[in-house]
Formats: sequence, structure tokens, C-alpha cells
Amino acid sequence: MITYMENQATIGIVGGGQLGRMLTLAAKPLGFRVVVLNPQSGGPAAQVGADEIVGNLYDETALKQLAEQSEYITVEIEHLNADALEAIEAAGVPVHPAPATIRLIQDKFKQKEYLHQAGVPLAPFVGIADKEAALAALENFGGKMLLKTREGAYDGRGNMLIESTEDIDKAYEVFSEQPLYGEGFVPFERELAVMVARDTAGSIAVYPIVETVHERNICTEVLAPAQIPDVQREKAEAVARKVASLLKGAGTFGIELFQTTNGDILVNEIAPRVHNSGHYTPEACRVGQFEQHIRAITGLPLGSTEMIVPAAVMINILGERNGPTEIKGRAEVLSNPYVSLHLYDKHPTKIDRKMGHITATGATVAEARQRARRARQQFSI
Ligand code: AMP
Repeated sequence: MITYMENQATIGIVGGGQLGRMLTLAAKPLGFRVVVLNPQSGGPAAQVGADEIVGNLYDETALKQLAEQSEYITVEIEHLNADALEAIEAAGVPVHPAPATIRLIQDKFKQKEYLHQAGVPLAPFVGIADKEAALAALENFGGKMLLKTREGAYDGRGNMLIESTEDIDKAYEVFSEQPLYGEGFVPFERELAVMVARDTAGSIAVYPIVETVHERNICTEVLAPAQIPDVQREKAEAVARKVASLLKGAGTFGIELFQTTNGDILVNEIAPRVHNSGHYTPEACRVGQFEQHIRAITGLPLGSTEMIVPAAVMINILGERNGPTEIKGRAEVLSNPYVSLHLYDKHPTKIDRKMGHITATGATVAEARQRARRARQQFSI
């Protein structure tokens, strides 16, 4: 039986996966109780002491139940019932970020329209109603584009490279009836990302610009800080500030960017929550993204985002087989004093499932990367 402090405020999180887990681990030392809504019992957040309501993230009753127990509501995922969150907000429980922001971000096409109208630099994009429209777009974009699902995309699922009519046919088979939009292919030099936090008073704190490395459309490595010229860094920071000022509500937001071959910085997409590209921050920055998010949504002052080490590299631990989770190599990983291990308590392991991550720090990005890569090779789960 757990006894809570008197008047202890509760943070309700929609979703209790790894992000909810790391938010819980950051909220508890600040004196908050955490309750999560999660589709399965015993999820990653519950494993570290969040109370758990088991239910679907679109279930109005379950979301209401979460709100009844909470002084603050936030999210670890954007695929959820935004109407229900709006009703909760209208009933007087603060929801951060604002449900209107989450709703906007849920539909990637609307997100792009909104950002484009506000003057945020983006790849060219167009709504796609049918195969004919897709073919016209392909011609318009010079024979190379991406078809993306407007809603529900996660970890690269929901996006296909298109270079021919056959590719379009294939995309329509895979995506079936889902609403789509098209995007011109961006010849990028590298992919970047930036975390930005905004508190309830509107103050903004920008984390360092990082480079993200992707394989099979999944982020595999994050290099902090990105090794880019100051011009691009300043452009990326300005974009981050602009995007943060355009979104309603408090919280930490992840902004994915492209650095194009001609030096432009374009926004790929926004996550209205803590993000994989910010997993390096607890070890590398004065205040990590998870604590920052908790501070932001509860009306506490934001912390410093400055780096406290010269460089850090985060490597995702993706499942390499399907079967029971089995931790191997933990001692080897931790034999390097500059390496940290974060596991998410996920069972079973599955190919490409995000099972945990490794963060290494160093005097340079190259040194941190070498340490992180070595640790990853020593580990399996
Ligand atoms: P997304 O599904 O939008 O998060 O994109 C997943 C990955 O696909 C990105 O990290 C890029 O590597 C790639 N990608 C997405 N959009 C484009 C684009 N317009 N041009 C080139 N690559 C892209």
C-alpha cells in the first residue's frame, strides 16, 4: 500500500510506454505522483512506479478516469482522442500541450499547411486524393517524392519513396484507404533535430541542435551537438523558436529538420512531446527533456538547456529478434564510466522494437560515438 504526501499533485499521462516511463522517473523527484493511461497492464511507466489505468488511448471513459485523478494532463504520444482531451480541458483540468496543438499535429498535412502559412521553411507538399493526383504530383516534384499517410504514422511506418507508377500502385496497396499527401524528395546533407520547451508563461528554452541518423526510417543514433556551421545552427535555432511560438500550450516539443545540400534548414515534422532525439539530454544537459517537460506543464520555471559535457551520442537499442527479453552484456556496457544504459522493461523483444538506449559522453562527438557504438556491440536484449 503506497501512501502519498498530503496535497501531492498528480500528473496524468496519456500513454505509459518508454516516454511515459522517463517522464515518471523525472516527475517523482520533483514531488509529483504519476498516473498513466496505457493499453496494456504493467507497461514501462508502471514498472517504475506510475499508477496505471488500463485502457485504449481513444477511450473517452478511460481518459475521463485519468483526468479525475489528475491535476495536470499531458501526453507521451499524439495518436489519441483529441476531442476527449478538449472536453477535459473545458472541464478545468489543464492539458499540455493544448489539445488543439495535438489535433493539428495528428494530421501531418494540416500541420504542414499551418507551418507553411506561418512562413516556416518546409519541403514542397500537396494533398493527394487518388492515384491520378499522385502521378501528377510525382511529375511536379521532378520524378521523386514521398507518399505519406496523413495520420497515425510512427517510427517511419506511413511513408514511402515514390519514383514510378509501380511505386504508386504499391503505396496504394500498403496504405489502402488511408488519406495521403505527397512531399517532394529533399536532397538532404543530414537530418537534424532540436528539442524546445515552452512554459505556461510562454518562455522558450531551446536545446542544442543535434544530428539524427536513421536506418529503415527509424532513428538509430543522435549526435550532440550537430557538427554543422554556425550559419545552419543559427537558422535551426530560429526555426525552433518560431515553431515553439506557433504552438499552443506548454511542454517540450521535438522538431525534426533537414539540412539540405544547399544549406537550407527545412522542418520535417513536429512531435508535441518529449522525443527520441532528446534522449541524450539527461546526461548531457543541465536539465534533461523529461524534467523540463514536467516543469513546463506544471507551471514551474524552466531549467537550463546548456550542455554540461562537450559531446554526447545516443544509440537506440532496437530489438534484433522476436522472443523473450533477455539482457546480456550489461556489465560490459557499464565498464565504461562514460556510458549510461536505459532499458524500457518491454517484453517480449521484437525486431526493431525500441527496447532501450545507450548514451555516451566524450570530449568530442567522435569519442562519444565510439564509446556508444562499442557499448551497443557488447549488449543484446
Ligand atoms: P517521417 O515519416 O516524415 O518522419 O520521415 C521518416 C524519414 O524519411 C525521415 O527521417 C527521412 O529520412 C525520410 N524522409 C521523410 N520525408 C522526406 C523527404 N521529403 N525527402 C527525403 N527524405 C524524407
